[in-house]
Amino acid sequence: MKNQSLLALILVLILSSSSLAQQQEDAKMIRTIYDETLLRGEAYENLRYLCKNIGGRVAGSPQGAAAVEWARQLMESYGFDKVILQEVMVPHWVRGKKEVGRIVNSKKLGSEEVNITALGNSVGTGPGGVVAEIVEVQNFEELAALGREAVEGKIVFFNRPMDQTQIQTGAAYGMAGNQRRSGPSEAAKHGAIGAVVRSLSTDFDDYPHTGSTVYTFNVPKIPAIAISTNDADMLSDLLKDDPELQFYFETHCQMLDDALTYNVVGEITGSENPDEYIVVGGHIDSWDLAEGAHDDGAGVVHSIEVLRTLKAMDYQPKRSIRAVLFANEENGLAGAKKYAELAEENGEKHYAAIESDAGGFTPRGFSMDVSEAAFERIQSWAPLFEEYDLHKFSKGGSGADISALKPQGVELIGLRPDSQRYFDMHHSAQDVFEIVNQRELLLGAAAMTSLVYLIDQHGLYEDQRGR
Ligand SMILES: [Zn+2]
Repeated sequence: MKNQSLLALILVLILSSSSLAQQQEDAKMIRTIYDETLLRGEAYENLRYLCKNIGGRVAGSPQGAAAVEWARQLMESYGFDKVILQEVMVPHWVRGKKEVGRIVNSKKLGSEEVNITALGNSVGTGPGGVVAEIVEVQNFEELAALGREAVEGKIVFFNRPMDQTQIQTGAAYGMAGNQRRSGPSEAAKHGAIGAVVRSLSTDFDDYPHTGSTVYTFNVPKIPAIAISTNDADMLSDLLKDDPELQFYFETHCQMLDDALTYNVVGEITGSENPDEYIVVGGHIDSWDLAEGAHDDGAGVVHSIEVLRTLKAMDYQPKRSIRAVLFANEENGLAGAKKYAELAEENGEKHYAAIESDAGGFTPRGFSMDVSEAAFERIQSWAPLFEEYDLHKFSKGGSGADISALKPQGVELIGLRPDSQRYFDMHHSAQDVFEIVNQRELLLGAAAMTSLVYLIDQHGLYEDQRGR
């Protein structure tokens, strides 16, 4: 008995000293990853190129094609083991001529121009525009209560703001988002001829924010626009004294035939388990009002930077590590669906996926849509990230593109940067390279690279012993 407990004690000591050594080794490796990224990272210069030389890149556009070719050449130049283009057919929506929005007959102001933008995927009004009385609602319940007689032949104005009390602005975006996504079709069900949606923005300014709307099958497609938050407030104020107020808008957007584009995939092939994949990804398409710098140029250059860093460190991963630049996240997720479909078809076992699609701001941690076992494992690494100010290891959503892999049982993780300024510029003309901070951007890449390293080294499950 005495001998047995002595043996047990020795075993515990051996195990804890080996795990201590392991922890020190991991800490050293993460330090090296951060050093490499902060001293020699190329994500910022890559983002500059993508934003300034290519710019906004709606799915199916010539800029979209240029971005694919740029990413392919960049990955080739880094010497990744494989660079693959996956064919994807995507919706091809074009904005056309600049939109016009106007309050027509205000008792107080007369005719007043307002700042608007067509919603992605929406049909245009054509040169004649639409003009009609405008009815304000906060939500779909209010719209249904008003009913057809109050709405038919009119324009519906959805004006529910993003909830400023939410600390995670993504949550506020989620709560307000159905107005843009489904509002136009909801309005059309009650006979409306147009829809105006308050911009999904946390800021009060004159920039309209676009984003996709999704028309319900078998409901008339009506033209739909977003209006800046300042102008939404003005319109709402005017409507209080002037319920007969009319609104005019003119949009020239249209949906063309589907177009061919590509997911761009770069890979460092695993040395022990090459058929198991760890994915880091972002989406290569963006809206057209600006350069898609934070959304999602940041995710594109983050993902490439992860592989660049590992390669620069001469790290030989056990599993295959892939940077995946998904096509068409903004208005259809065709690239995500194609990637998941091909993974299944080709029998690729995807082990984990990390997405960066929340901007290039200071990383705070990771949000995880994972199994309990993987969650505990990743949480156990949290102390390693303390000194890098990465504190949030919580359960939650991951990212729209990698979510397509969920039915294959893939552990899904989203990089979570500070969210306070993201929706000030998201999908608006303000999302340009100049508002991205170099250090903040690089820190995001280093955080992702570190997590990839840990997953690759130690696996996500207790029984795997790093397999
Ligand atoms: Zn995005």
